Amino acid sequence: MESIIKHLVEITGHRDHDLLNISVISALCELTQAAYARVLDVVAMGGKLHLRTQISIKNGEVIVAEEFTVSSPIAGELLAHYPVLENGIAQKLHVIEDLDENGKGTVWLPIWMNEKVNVCLEIVNPASYTKNTREVMDGILIVYRNFQNLLDYSERDSLTGLLNRKTFDDNFSKILRSSMLLGQTPGAGRSDPERRTGEKEKHHWLAVVDIDHFKRVNDQFGHLYGDEVLILIANLMRSSFRPSDKLFRFGGEEFVILLRSTSQTDAQMIFDRFRSNVEQYPFPQVGQVTVSLGYAHIDPFEPAVGIMGRADQALYFAKSNGRNRTCHYENLVKIGDLKVEISNDSVEFF
Ligand code: GH3
Ligand code: MG
Ligand code: MG
Repeated sequence: MESIIKHLVEITGHRDHDLLNISVISALCELTQAAYARVLDVVAMGGKLHLRTQISIKNGEVIVAEEFTVSSPIAGELLAHYPVLENGIAQKLHVIEDLDENGKGTVWLPIWMNEKVNVCLEIVNPASYTKNTREVMDGILIVYRNFQNLLDYSERDSLTGLLNRKTFDDNFSKILRSSMLLGQTPGAGRSDPERRTGEKEKHHWLAVVDIDHFKRVNDQFGHLYGDEVLILIANLMRSSFRPSDKLFRFGGEEFVILLRSTSQTDAQMIFDRFRSNVEQYPFPQVGQVTVSLGYAHIDPFEPAVGIMGRADQALYFAKSNGRNRTCHYENLVKIGDLKVEISNDSVEFF
């Protein structure tokens, strides 16, 4: 009992999804005396559900998968490889057991939120799996679900449901950490933009998006229509990018996109596809709305403010050269349209 209360105190003390997940899986592991347990992301890709290990715990040792590394490919394993789990999820079960008469096997606990399961806990070979254990597990899961909801609420912008600016700061440092694992070298070509953005080379990318002439929308149709445009653009963003890309509302009518590891050619294609989706969308009453994007590659050894500054310069270029455009900072420098600012870290962009 004492140990359960200790775990509950720990679970409710965290304001970070990773720490919350580590707490809950450690609590369940200890409670069931399992040697191995995992927190799995359930991700839809190409019309099929996949499982991706987010956190695993083995004999007390916790391993957290880095989000943006080459070693944890986005797709993960196909859910179809686990027919018992797949069947249980299809039936919307809360507890799915695949145990033999000796209690050997696996227990899965899908976490249902609004009829959807994005996370599933997995406990392998629980040594203690009695009625009493299961009741305590249920209690822990309710606390966990409530806390996940609260965290989601504090991380998101209330108008659009996109991640908010505060979350950007947290996520950005995580991505920088994992970018280093991709083997990029410090400041690679700070004065040599060509080298660091080779066509085929993979990078993470940061784009700043700003709605064109948004003041006119507010002036002509009123703020309520302006807000509606913001919501619809956020929806178009969600449908234009993959779940692994991070989408933020940064302030008023400005958005930031973090695009996971991809080549420059693909980054241009993906960002510009979003721009074109907005251009072609018939906004009720308002008609056509366009956006401008500026993007730059993420150099993990540069402070966030520098990367944002480069993307912002490309956005400024797009704004002053016709709007409704997608501009790539390193390319603008390469073709001589932008000059590299010899930035030292004291340069203020905001
Ligand atoms: P530009 O193409 O140069 O970006 O022109 P713009 O009119 O979009 O210029 P600017 O970025 O300066 O204007 C932003 C406007 O966005 C100002 C404000 O009226 C509007 N805005 C900012 N936040 C909100 C919001 O939450 N709701 C609504 N309806 N409007 C907002
Ligand atoms: Mg603006
Ligand atoms: Mg604007």
